[in-house]
Amino acid sequence: MIERKESIAPRLDKEARRQRMALPPQPVLERSAAERLRDFAETAIPFSPEQAMAEASRCLLCPGAPCAAHCLLSNDIPGAMWLISQGDFLGAAALYRQTSPMPEICSRICPQQSLCEGACVLGKSGTPIALGRLERFVADYERAHDGHTVVDAPDTGFRVAVIGSGPAGIAAADWLRRAGHAVTIYEALPEPGGLLVYGIPTFKLDKRVVREKLDHLRARGVTLICNVHVGRDVPFEAVRQQHDAVFIGTGANVDATARIDGISLPGVLQATPFLIQANLPPALWPASLPPGPPPVGRQITVFGGGDTAMDCVRSALRLQQRAGYPLNVTCVYRRTEEEMPGNRHDRQLAREEGGQFLFLAAPTRFLPDQDGRLRAVECIRMRLGEPDDSGRRRPVPIEGSEFTLETDLAVLALGYWADPRLGEAIPGLQTHDNGLITVDPETGQTSVPGVFAGGDNVTGPDLVGRAAAAGIRAARAIDAYLQTRR
Ligand SMILES: Cc1cc2nc3c(=O)[nH]c(=O)nc-3n(C[C@H](O)[C@H](O)[C@H](O)COP(=O)(O)OP(=O)(O)OC[C@H]3O[C@@H](n4cnc5c(N)ncnc54)[C@H](O)[C@@H]3O)c2cc1C
Repeated sequence: MIERKESIAPRLDKEARRQRMALPPQPVLERSAAERLRDFAETAIPFSPEQAMAEASRCLLCPGAPCAAHCLLSNDIPGAMWLISQGDFLGAAALYRQTSPMPEICSRICPQQSLCEGACVLGKSGTPIALGRLERFVADYERAHDGHTVVDAPDTGFRVAVIGSGPAGIAAADWLRRAGHAVTIYEALPEPGGLLVYGIPTFKLDKRVVREKLDHLRARGVTLICNVHVGRDVPFEAVRQQHDAVFIGTGANVDATARIDGISLPGVLQATPFLIQANLPPALWPASLPPGPPPVGRQITVFGGGDTAMDCVRSALRLQQRAGYPLNVTCVYRRTEEEMPGNRHDRQLAREEGGQFLFLAAPTRFLPDQDGRLRAVECIRMRLGEPDDSGRRRPVPIEGSEFTLETDLAVLALGYWADPRLGEAIPGLQTHDNGLITVDPETGQTSVPGVFAGGDNVTGPDLVGRAAAAGIRAARAIDAYLQTRR
């Protein structure tokens, strides 16, 4: 979390709060499931200006602001609600931008139900304020009208390298530029944006929104160098020597795998290549991917229970438009729905779109056809045992309960690991748990002087808001470090 400042929202008296509590919530709508399945476009229907003002007018402007306390970037949410209710949309957008490097992105993909909206006091007895939709409304209003301006400090003459262009790298670059430092971002993939581009599907986050954010950074003088993997294409030491400090925001992007017979058969895919091939044009694919989309057949089975699994299910369902015939898409998860870690709302949307679920089952073998391609998956039924370290009940296989699922394409969404290679290439860099970088949690300082890190490569797979917060914290610490070198 980032420390919070006093809200600019006025205090409401009891009567004003009572009147606001009587106001009806505005409908928060998605495009119909049938319409959604026709394309990969965003599913949310935005608020109109009138709806935004009406919805924000319900906010009680609570002095303790539990919503802001649960915001990963400590946005002044009551302040923004007050400005929106007054029709000052650009003012509200500017207020978000004081604490957030990317309100247009976080508003689309933060799991608000378990963060700001989950903490809204109106949710205790009714409908919480639609805080995500309102943030999105003002950020998009600003994009459509003035665009946004950020006042950067005069150039300091210091140069900082940022390795990785995901949310952590973008946030660090944004905050370092605000402080007047020259920033160069190095990105291994053809397009910058990290998982905002190469993971999160376009129906949740339109890539144009990410591109605009990156163009804005470029316009402020940030240099972006793509297709350069630091540690492989350029030695880390060379980057270090050319800069006064380095921020490492390389994420945790190695698809987790499992020891299952037949896992290398054609027709068994990891989540990341599947999402890239489904959501992005071939020109943006990394060179490691085979050309052309995978043949989908008629039955796609996705294994996993997190957000990535749901993104795979929903992407697979959208492939029926390209296939020209209906596809069956099933998500197989080894626990029950209650233990599923992913976002409930996304699961509901997947169901509306036709996704099916099979709980308490896990794959034991991928079975080939006569041509050596995936034909079916052998699974085993599970029951729930004692809770494990995560507090969730452990799935236990039921002996002799194996069964076969015919499937043409299996997608494995089993989680992500960090890439240990960069850590190994940096002398003295302390890492743990197969490549996660050890840092001071307040500053992102690593064991190497002048080298900072943050985001998924420190925490393991997490959230965009938390990666962005880590980037901001590290940028502030880098700024303080550079001041000592004047
Ligand atoms: C499918 C999927 C869906 C998700 N959905 C959501 C969601 O809805 N909401 C949410 O809040 N979070 C979501 N997340 C999680 C979120 O995307 C991540 O927590 C976040 O992107 C982490 O940011 P990061 O900057 O640390 O890393 P990344 O976004 O992973 O960016 C790291 C970048 O570093 C680059 N890189 C790596 N090594 C090098 C190197 N040596 N040299 C140069 N570049 C390098 C990578 O290519 C990558 O572009 C999702 C994740 C996935 C996989």
